[in-house]
Amino acid sequence: ARKFFVGGNFKMNGTRESIKAIVKNLNEAQLDSNVEVVIAPPSLYLLLASESLNKTGVSVSAQNVYDKPDGAYTGEISVSQLKDSGIHWTILGHSERRTILNETDEVVASKTKVAVDGGVSVIWCCGESLDEREAGTTVAVVEKQLAALAAKVSGADWEKIVIAYEPIWAIGTGKVATTQQAQEVHEAIRGWLKANVSDKVAEETRILYGGSVNAKNCKELAKEKDIDGFLVGGASLKPEFVDIINSNL
Ligand code: 13P
Repeated sequence: ARKFFVGGNFKMNGTRESIKAIVKNLNEAQLDSNVEVVIAPPSLYLLLASESLNKTGVSVSAQNVYDKPDGAYTGEISVSQLKDSGIHWTILGHSERRTILNETDEVVASKTKVAVDGGVSVIWCCGESLDEREAGTTVAVVEKQLAALAAKVSGADWEKIVIAYEPIWAIGTGKVATTQQAQEVHEAIRGWLKANVSDKVAEETRILYGGSVNAKNCKELAKEKDIDGFLVGGASLKPEFVDIINSNL
């Protein structure tokens, strides 16, 4: 069985004070022990978050990492620097990085390979724009993103990858995908993994939904058979994040 997974992507939000308060709230909360929780603050606050955190089942993630080991790459952070700081997760390929920072499918795949090779697990994001959904190309878009990933990673690499399906039109808009829309794409992703990678990877890889998840809509989404958790933006900054973690209780 796939362990339910809830990630909190803080994006470029927070202060020392607010991040300490979020961690304190998690430290003190009753969390479903069957859920793996990861919070991703801005890189400046990774250590503050991990040093303040004292909750089993909760770990800290970066939001991005570079695919070179070290050197003249101003502004970037390496996989070994994450490891050296005790950070064992990173988000990669978030749509904001793909669209605003121009990361291609290939760049995201390369970063993913370098991260997993270096022992850092990856929340790998995919998803379509509103135009693509309306054009009926959702599954094709996601499959193209997956194909670029599968061209770079193989075998045991997949054990360190969690997939997050985040339709761009649902991110930060308050417009959550319906349970059926989400389940349909999750099923397509699992089917693609089965056909193009292996039965084992299809069976074991967690596929998260992201996009306007909140304490109200999480329970219904969590019931779908191919939805193995969430990647939460805005609501991860609020106390309701605990209710989303506990959506199966
Ligand atoms: P919201 O939950 O704010 O819509 O953001 C989703 C997201 O992009 C998580 O990575």
